Amino acid sequence: MPTPRLKIRLSPAGERAVKSGHPWVFSESIQSQNRPGSAGELAVIYDRSSDRFLASAFFDPDSPIRLRIVHRGTPTPIDPAFWHDRVHSATAARAGIFTQDTTGVRLIHGENDGFPALVLDRYADTCVCKLYSPVWIPHLPALTEAITSIIQPAALLLRLSRNAAPAFASAGLTEGFLTGSSPDSVPFLEDGLQFLADVRHGQKTGFYLDQRDNRRRLASIAKGADVLNAFSFSSAFSLHAARAGARSVTDVDISQHALDAGSRNFAANLHLPQVAACTRHAIRADAFPWLATRPTQRFDIVVVDPPSLARRESDRPAAIKAYHQLATSAAQHLKPHGILLAASCSAHVSPSEFADAVRAAIPHARELWTAGHAPDHPARFPEATYLKAIALQLPARPATRR
Ligand code: SAH
Repeated sequence: MPTPRLKIRLSPAGERAVKSGHPWVFSESIQSQNRPGSAGELAVIYDRSSDRFLASAFFDPDSPIRLRIVHRGTPTPIDPAFWHDRVHSATAARAGIFTQDTTGVRLIHGENDGFPALVLDRYADTCVCKLYSPVWIPHLPALTEAITSIIQPAALLLRLSRNAAPAFASAGLTEGFLTGSSPDSVPFLEDGLQFLADVRHGQKTGFYLDQRDNRRRLASIAKGADVLNAFSFSSAFSLHAARAGARSVTDVDISQHALDAGSRNFAANLHLPQVAACTRHAIRADAFPWLATRPTQRFDIVVVDPPSLARRESDRPAAIKAYHQLATSAAQHLKPHGILLAASCSAHVSPSEFADAVRAAIPHARELWTAGHAPDHPARFPEATYLKAIALQLPARPATRR
């Protein structure tokens, strides 16, 4: 006897969410299910009242996000041709972003591109696919085939999120090349600057592609500036500032590995006169106490881009306070007229909560801009809005106390 299709009905709230286009169904929204399901099995969600097809979804038995919507509307086979079309649409949408000068691009941004819990980043001829859930395991052959035939990369590397490590381990899935091979550090360009992405071991897929537009904004104001780059990772903000004519950049990161990657990225761009003329300092330190300490030097621009400070919803109030404190500390390193560029990648803190926390830290400052995601990182549902940035400029003279 063939196994019957996994059929699911949802609570009214769960059904409303799916109908509105939300890509997640939490376990408590499942009202009935005809049998247990396995990870990555395709479940069909039926409308409560009409019993008609509502959506197909990946079943994720070990996650509170029990269903990850793959397709809504009319029933469609979720087969290799389906994934081929999806990969094609996602890559076509980035056609103007991947250029001769910018060869590091996110090609698939998870749910926002119809690929729940999966990202695909391209660094020149190397693609890195990172899975955040084991639901993809049964579909990996179809996905690999679609990526290799559409993008034709020299290598496709599979990376697995640590958050779902036990599930990957029990399925016997390990990181490694799905096709071809590349060095651990892959050279690529961002606006003509050379960078190395540590695709095998680096954070995310080896580089923070999501901050590209904020680095461009920094470049637009960096000429002649002394720049402090806190949480610098591989010095991408600093290099954009250096090429734009910054006088000096000071990178602060807790990780020696990150600072070394920054040194390598600087070395790779020394042929550019502005980069060669810019002095780079690298400081290994915990940036929270370092910034809170009375400064010995002041800067024209301070960039503060910490890792996520709210891993879960319950961390939200503490994270908002921490952003406020961080902005307060960072602002004391600014010269009069100096600019603070603060960023947050905590999905649980909303753009307005973050911006208000930073504004309140330097209420006398003038707001220059707020920004969100780069266009290759579209956010199409509330939980996907993780990246936000705000730039504030101090007045020409320090505020006088009355
Ligand atoms: N702005 C970077 C990305 C920053 S990612 C870019 O554009 O590429 C966050 C960085 O913060 C990582 O490099 C991590 O090593 C560093 N980090 C984490 N905790 C830290 C701490 N307490 N003090 C300083 N750096 C820290």
